[in-house]
Amino acid sequence: MNAATKPEITAASPHVMNTYGRLPIALSHGQGCEVWDVNGRRYLDALAGIAVNTLGHNHPKLVPALQDQLSKLIHTSNYYHVPQQETLAAQLVELSGMTNVFFCSTGLEANEAAIKLARKFGHNKGIERPQIVVYENAFHGRSIATLSATGNPKVQAGFGPLVEGFIRIPLNDMDALRKATEGNPDVVAVFFEAIQGEGGIRPMQAEYLQQVRKLCDERDWLLMIDEVQCGMGRTGKWFAHQWAGIQPDVMPLAKGLGSGVPIGAVVAGPRAAQLFGPGNHGTTFGGNPLAMRAGVETLRIMQEDGLLENATRVGKHLHDALARELAQEIASGAVRDLRGMGLMIGLELDRPCGALLNSCAEHGLLISVTADSVVRLLPPLIMTTAQADEVIAILCPLIKTFLAGNPT
Ligand SMILES: *Cc1c(COP(=O)(O)O)cnc(C)c1O
Repeated sequence: MNAATKPEITAASPHVMNTYGRLPIALSHGQGCEVWDVNGRRYLDALAGIAVNTLGHNHPKLVPALQDQLSKLIHTSNYYHVPQQETLAAQLVELSGMTNVFFCSTGLEANEAAIKLARKFGHNKGIERPQIVVYENAFHGRSIATLSATGNPKVQAGFGPLVEGFIRIPLNDMDALRKATEGNPDVVAVFFEAIQGEGGIRPMQAEYLQQVRKLCDERDWLLMIDEVQCGMGRTGKWFAHQWAGIQPDVMPLAKGLGSGVPIGAVVAGPRAAQLFGPGNHGTTFGGNPLAMRAGVETLRIMQEDGLLENATRVGKHLHDALARELAQEIASGAVRDLRGMGLMIGLELDRPCGALLNSCAEHGLLISVTADSVVRLLPPLIMTTAQADEVIAILCPLIKTFLAGNPT
């Protein structure tokens, strides 16, 4: 790339709004689990654009399919039938055991639709001020309604008044759920991530999921599980809640569903599938042919290439290697916890560790740090064990150096 086209990397862009703390890196292209920056430096990608690039970069089956779609139709609008919506919806229905799908373009939009479904469910039952149970440390997006459902004061600060109608409780605590909703006839839904992503890779326990499912049935509440980050095969099942053998009534999806093409979906079971009618909800880009093709091909390639099995196998390999290489730090308590399933892994340190983002990038590894002190790995589902070994070989020494150089 010549100097004229090389984008200059400055701390703050003069024209793009300053909404992200960015690393001083501009990426140019990728292949599989590797990406290169505009200066030709190589990085191993253990972030996948935050659980988005399911198939990595420049996938040999995905790219030709998308090129084919680009030459046919990119967008048409929902004034017309979009046959690809039917194809992708049928696949999602089969994989989830649920019944109907609404398509949108992002995670927050899928969650916004879920919140509207819950409210409509309530209004249909004569509940005029419906309330939804949400969780501490949850992340559901940055629209006004979804940031109100989010359990992170930093996301909410400066944007009040928040949307009302949310009751917040701690994770994995049935007594807290019962107590917070006791005698309240306005509760309509319980809404959470099966594994909290931004909150620090915090899983809901299988037993808790089963008990909440039972309570929702008893009380006629909707069980709504945000699978935007933990879904789409990341944990080794299509959807993370499937590890508990339950089924939600509403399931928002996005991130990994289109392997990088913006797409969101809310999948509904029988109790929620008929709540919206014409005029109740919609979005211009939702379900456009390009996004649908990306979803259909992502699912097809995941199945053909056994990527659920790969996520389980390589995830376990990474998990075991982290436990082995950091055994001393785990024993000393400097590494507080190693959590997650499949290729969704969190390593909680006993101190804020945002600096690891930079040091990993300097050593050719892209990761994430979330909730201040949790190193998060979300690699493409195509990662090999050899690449996982490379992640470990870069990451673990850097964690040791970081801990030694940054006492609590
Ligand atoms: C990323 C994320 C969202 C928001 O998705 P956007 O596409 O950024 O709007 C919502 N829920 C969860 C669990 C997420 O990880």
